[in-house]
Amino acid sequence: MKRLNYFAVNIIETLLRMAPFPSKTGLIRIGNPDSNSPVFLTCNYHLTVERVKKSLKEVDAYLLVANSKGYNVWCGATGGHFTNHSVISVLKTSGIEKLVDHRNIIFPQLAATGIEARLIKKKTAWKVIWGPVYAKDLPTFIKNGLMKTSEMREVRFPMVQRIEMAAMWAFPFSIIVNIVAFLFWQEAFLSLNIFIWTLPFLLFVFFPLYSKYLSPKKRRPSFNKYTIVFDFSRVPLILWGFFIFCLALYSTLTGIFSWGFICRWSFVSFVVILLISLDLMGSTPIYKSGLHEDRFLKIALDKVRCKGAGFCEQVCPRNCYELDKNRYIVTMPRTDRCVQCGACIVQCPFDALYFRSLENEKISPETIRKFKLNLIGKRKIVDNL
Ligand code: SF4
Ligand code: SF4
Repeated sequence: MKRLNYFAVNIIETLLRMAPFPSKTGLIRIGNPDSNSPVFLTCNYHLTVERVKKSLKEVDAYLLVANSKGYNVWCGATGGHFTNHSVISVLKTSGIEKLVDHRNIIFPQLAATGIEARLIKKKTAWKVIWGPVYAKDLPTFIKNGLMKTSEMREVRFPMVQRIEMAAMWAFPFSIIVNIVAFLFWQEAFLSLNIFIWTLPFLLFVFFPLYSKYLSPKKRRPSFNKYTIVFDFSRVPLILWGFFIFCLALYSTLTGIFSWGFICRWSFVSFVVILLISLDLMGSTPIYKSGLHEDRFLKIALDKVRCKGAGFCEQVCPRNCYELDKNRYIVTMPRTDRCVQCGACIVQCPFDALYFRSLENEKISPETIRKFKLNLIGKRKIVDNL
């Protein structure tokens, strides 16, 4: 029964992933924890809480669920919903301080874009240990004595996740399209549904084959109110052109060609491809659109300030860093992989990291800590203590 529930939750919340899905905040006991048991913390996105609980099912532990307004860890922390304030609040109100003798708490690594380990320590005396990116790696992380391998630190985009993303896009579109079809175009009901589900699946499944052609534009686009979230340029246009070509070929070969047919389907495919080009925090398969101004930033290191503490290496989801433990300094051999998440900057205790803009302007660590990035790539001030 439990397995069935977990399966149903996964399906439903994957289909509705675009919407926040809050679960109760507070303390959850897993197994029979005692005063030496590890303490984990996560956001209150319901699916994440369920997945963390499942990963920890063989462990006796405490799990703290902090308020992220129902957003997942990465979006919540980056967008200013999963904050220092929400973490401190659950640490102080859950009663965990009386239940354990230690003050170590394991955070999901992707929270590092928004939650400052130094500040948590200063305000609560709890020491933050950055756990793995994926909850499924928690058992190995514990077995390894809370050590992460470089694989555990890296955000990958495996097939399962790509299929989840495809379903996340297709489901809300299919509802809109079905309503419109029901009202105006009932005979195309089936074809529209096939199209709306097939296109995202094809794009996400074959994403690794074409993603290398999605490099962001070299120059800043001219921003205006219509180009904030859409990038209807190279890849979407090629897709649209290809679809119309196939449509014309198919209709000619089957003898159903008419200009009305071509125009209707060209319009529908244009709208669908436009929607799938929505640049929401990189969740589109046409993701490196270059509409987010942050994508033009370059990560930079002030070697004089760096003391080799290694927090940047611990939190970077793209493995951009190598820590030189002999020279107490970090090197950045893979900056080309940087996705401008800002986690390394937020966590560096010596402010040795910062972004540089296209105009070579220095963007200070304080700015990155204070202004959080929303879904459409705009930074806003967040009251993050
Ligand atoms: S850049 Fe900052 S976090 Fe990274 S090793 Fe240097 S001092 Fe530590
Ligand atoms: S190097 Fe880039 S990807 Fe890595 S943590 Fe820093 S900003 Fe994020």
